[in-house]
Amino acid sequence: MTCKELIAFLMDYLDGDLPDEEMRHFDEHIGICPECTDYLESYKETVRVGKMICQPDGGLPADIPEDLVTTILAARRAGA
Ligand SMILES: [Zn+2]
Repeated sequence: MTCKELIAFLMDYLDGDLPDEEMRHFDEHIGICPECTDYLESYKETVRVGKMICQPDGGLPADIPEDLVTTILAARRAGA
């Protein structure tokens, strides 16, 4: 699996929708590619914080670390 393929499969991976074999390729690539590991981690974090921010009544939690906000904004700028 290449980095590009991994990113294409990312949503399905996180949703648990990947077939077993693709899941294995995905995990193998994550095991050998630090860049994709970083990408996966920041993506998960972005999704998590994105859900918090989108709470209809909650608003923006006060305890979001500054660097996390920076990461999200950077990801948005990059079109991720
Ligand atoms: Zn990769």
